[in-house]
Amino acid sequence: MKPAVERMLDRRSFFTSMGKAAAGASALGLLTDADIEAAPANVQRNSIPSDLKITDLRVAVVEKAPMTCPLIRLDTNQGLAGYGEVRDGASATYALFLKSRLLGENPCNVDRLFRKIKQFGAPARQAGGVCGVEMALWDLAGKAYGVPAYQMLGGKFRDKVRLYADTTETEDPHEQGRRLKKRMESGFTWLKQDFGIDLLKDVPGGLAMPQGSSVTGGGLVMHPFTGIEITDKGIAFLSDWVAASRQEIGMDIPLASDHYGHIGVNSCIRLARAMEKHQLAWMEDMVPWQLPELLKQIKDAVDIPILTGEDIYLKEDFARLITAGAVDIIHPDLASAGGLLEMKKISDFAMEHGVPMAMHFAGTPVSFMANLHTAVAVENFLVLENHSVDVPWWQDLVSGVPKPILDHGFAAPSDRPGLGVELVEEVVKAHLKPGTTYFAPTPEWDNERSWDRLWS
Ligand SMILES: [Mg+2]
Repeated sequence: MKPAVERMLDRRSFFTSMGKAAAGASALGLLTDADIEAAPANVQRNSIPSDLKITDLRVAVVEKAPMTCPLIRLDTNQGLAGYGEVRDGASATYALFLKSRLLGENPCNVDRLFRKIKQFGAPARQAGGVCGVEMALWDLAGKAYGVPAYQMLGGKFRDKVRLYADTTETEDPHEQGRRLKKRMESGFTWLKQDFGIDLLKDVPGGLAMPQGSSVTGGGLVMHPFTGIEITDKGIAFLSDWVAASRQEIGMDIPLASDHYGHIGVNSCIRLARAMEKHQLAWMEDMVPWQLPELLKQIKDAVDIPILTGEDIYLKEDFARLITAGAVDIIHPDLASAGGLLEMKKISDFAMEHGVPMAMHFAGTPVSFMANLHTAVAVENFLVLENHSVDVPWWQDLVSGVPKPILDHGFAAPSDRPGLGVELVEEVVKAHLKPGTTYFAPTPEWDNERSWDRLWS
């Protein structure tokens, strides 16, 4: 058989039955009668998508990746397994709680199932279960129909995905700069470093703050309510600090930043103005995303891109921020934002308003693949985070994708069906959270029920 025909028959058409495809190709003169006769024998029919049903949801919690990451596996009545991942740091319970809503459902109905379970998600880690399941549904749908996830999202805008990596922190700005430089030398074309008021703890007169409060902002106290402000001396110190780290890498490479501390909005504006000359790629989460008026105050006052989004669940809150003109760039985390299709919707809304999208990420290669499939399939993409550059076994958790996965500052999704990777059992088992098991049965979640309707 001609190679082109073989490829076409090997990857089953998403919408067209094999018979129709073969007949159409035959009409175009591509196939002989012998080819059509031979076609069924050449097709890998590992699933009948219309009869596919979810039979189980199990978890395996990996730790030190560097985060703690609950992997989930959806099993089916046809032997196909789909993989997803609850957001880093979140409890696997967020996914297990959804099992009773998924048993017996056809995983190929991704959007309908997402709408069924999305009421059980909420901002940040609380969205992790819904988003992890959504990833696993795409993995199953792709495996059932024989197409990669990016193709089901509409195909590619790019073949490879630009990455940025956080850099381990040190108080010595020149050493920080040298660590950034190492990232550059390994191929990264976009960098990130954190700096904040913790650097001022030994700088007398650097901060004005209520006696007894801490530079970490007191945990759950939001920025405007800590009473912590940076003095001119503190701002000058941080500006010199960033200048010293910039010295090592030059001005030509984008340098993002985060974690300034819980300071008031006026201090945010003064700090950001002092950073303009250092050409930061963005300043992230200067105040919580729940306060769009304050974000807009900062954005309107400074000539540096203002960004937020890693904890926002669903398109609606991104739309609110974008419509309010409160952000220059959005920064969703796919495992909190709602999964692959919701990311596509968020991206499209932002694109219509001239807002680019960077992507926050801190999980294993399973969730990373979901990110890659999405990143190639959205138009306004800037750059995707990876937190695991210094974890040597990170990429060994999966097979099915060319290695190294992180290739000189870029990565590409697999062309295999679904998310395109399988787990390497012995590697996952070697990095399980102590006291947890590898995809043990979860019958205790089979019958968890409530009256789920959101209206009367
Ligand atoms: Mg952040």
